[in-house]
Amino acid sequence: MEAVAFLCLAAAVLGWGFLWVWDSWERMKGQKPAGLPGDGSRTLLVIAHPDDEAMFFAPTVLGLARLRHRLSLLCFSAGNYYNQGEIRKKELLQSCDVLGIPPSSIMIIDNRDFPDDPGVQWDTDHVASTLLQHIEVNSINLVVTFDAGGVSGHSNHVALYAAVRTLHSEGKLPKGCSVLTLQSVNVLRKYISLLDLPFTLLQTRDVLFVLTSKEVAQAKKAMSCHRSQLLWFRRLYVLFSRYMRINSLHFL
Ligand SMILES: [Zn+2]
Repeated sequence: MEAVAFLCLAAAVLGWGFLWVWDSWERMKGQKPAGLPGDGSRTLLVIAHPDDEAMFFAPTVLGLARLRHRLSLLCFSAGNYYNQGEIRKKELLQSCDVLGIPPSSIMIIDNRDFPDDPGVQWDTDHVASTLLQHIEVNSINLVVTFDAGGVSGHSNHVALYAAVRTLHSEGKLPKGCSVLTLQSVNVLRKYISLLDLPFTLLQTRDVLFVLTSKEVAQAKKAMSCHRSQLLWFRRLYVLFSRYMRINSLHFL
C-alpha cells in the first residue's frame, strides 16, 4: 500500500515537473528577453577559435537571428595549434554560412599575439584594446562572449572574458553597448543534452535560447563543416552536449 502511495506521489511530482518545464518554455518562446536590444541590433559574437561559434554558441546565433539581430563575428585566432590554421579559417566561413553569418561580417585575427594555445596567456589589455577598436568601428551595441569559466575552461576563452570584463568595469565600452556572457555549467550538466533544460530553468539567467529540432539540425550541420576537428570525441560531443541545444546567458 505504501509502495502504491509512493508511486502515485512520484508520478504526481514528475507530472507537475514536466508541466512546469513545458509551461515555462511555452511562455518564453517567441518573447524577446528583457534587456536585450531589439530588431536590427548590431551584435558581435567574440570567439577564440574557429568552431567555438558552432560548438558553444549555435543556440545564441540562431536565437539572435530569430530576433533579427545583425550579427557579426570576431575570431581572435585561426586555430593554428596543429598548424591547420588555413583549413580552419575556411571551415569557419562554411560553418558561418550555415548559421547565417555572411563572410563580410566575419573577421579573423590571425597574428602571433593571440596564438591558439591553452598554455599561452593572452595579454588582457591587448585583447581589450583590439576588441574595443572593433566595437567602435562597427558601432556594436551588444557583445556576446564566454564567461569566466570559458565553458571548456580553455585559457583563450577565459582571456576574452577577462578583456570584456575590464572594458566594462573601467567604463570604456561605448554608451549603449551591453555585454552578454555564456554561462558555463559543470561537466555533468554539460553532457545531458536537452535534459539539462529543467536545471537551466531553475537557475537565474538573463537570456535563454533553446533550439527547435530543425535548428538543432542546422547547428549540427554547422559543426560538421569543421571537418578537421571532427574526431570521435567531438562527434560524441555533438550528440550529447547541451550547448548544441541550450544557451543561457548573463549580462555583465
Ligand atoms: Zn575554443
